[in-house]
Amino acid sequence: MTESINDLCNAPIHPQAAEGLRLFNEGKYFEAHEALEIAWLEEKGKVRELYRGVLQIAVVYLHATRRNYNGVIKVYGRSQKWLKDWPEICRGIDVGQLQRDAKAVVNEINRLGMENISQFNNSLLKPVRWNENQTGKKHVYICDRCGHEMHEKNCKVTCPNCGNRFDCSDLNIYFD
Ligand SMILES: [Zn+2]
Repeated sequence: MTESINDLCNAPIHPQAAEGLRLFNEGKYFEAHEALEIAWLEEKGKVRELYRGVLQIAVVYLHATRRNYNGVIKVYGRSQKWLKDWPEICRGIDVGQLQRDAKAVVNEINRLGMENISQFNNSLLKPVRWNENQTGKKHVYICDRCGHEMHEKNCKVTCPNCGNRFDCSDLNIYFD
């Protein structure tokens, strides 16, 4: 694994992708697909392909809930181009688990075939495991001495105006 893919995967998830995952995990696959599509359109880097792949799994699951055999098989096939080359976890998304879950869904749909797809059990449609803390929302620190916005890096919080500083573990001393 190169350093660049690590850097790429350690960056925060796009807010609309995060929203898409929340909707996905509520079983709102159509809405999830819409939010992930915005992330895909707005993201310029390679990670847009990951969002596109997750988007397509949302569509696969939507087709599964509608018992649309051809829809499941077709969209799952497309999704693999976008999903196969990522590390196990990227942007806080457990891509490996999602891939195994989606594969289990498709295997079951294949086993049932078009005639018996009505017997598909929706409990196979698992939520995406992801880390909500990787959304890149930063705490805004305001200096208690001068009111200036402070900078945080590696848990060291510094005021660029007056030099006031503290460690983020001391946060409750300054802000409660
Ligand atoms: Zn200050």
